[in-house]
Amino acid sequence: MTDDRHETKGQPATGSAALFASCPRCGAKTLFAGPVKFAERCETCGLDFAKFNVGDGPAAFLTMIVGAFVVVLALWLQLSLEPPWWVHVLLWVPLIIGGVVLGLRLTKGWLLSTEYRRRAEEHRHEVSDSE
Ligand SMILES: [Zn+2]
Repeated sequence: MTDDRHETKGQPATGSAALFASCPRCGAKTLFAGPVKFAERCETCGLDFAKFNVGDGPAAFLTMIVGAFVVVLALWLQLSLEPPWWVHVLLWVPLIIGGVVLGLRLTKGWLLSTEYRRRAEEHRHEVSDSE
């Protein structure tokens, strides 16, 4: 952690890479080809995103977190205002879809960026060990 400025020169921080769907190597906004699907590789620097194994682990957690959040809000709305059923549909369906998609983009981008940095750090140690 003393001198990683050289290793991370030009690379976005993990948080901003996740927030802006940026390539962890060059910072171009090329991480996703679809709403939650990674691109095959970075169109700018050629980094192969397919070799990173982020998986679908975040999806289950996000669905449960967003689901719990929406259930609490829906119960509160129903008990306090008693709106007709279609108000719940109009409110919660877009919120669930948007929350899960946005959450998946953030967590998958964050995980890929973290894995990229960890591999870069391991590679740096391998190089310095062989010298
Ligand atoms: Zn790139």
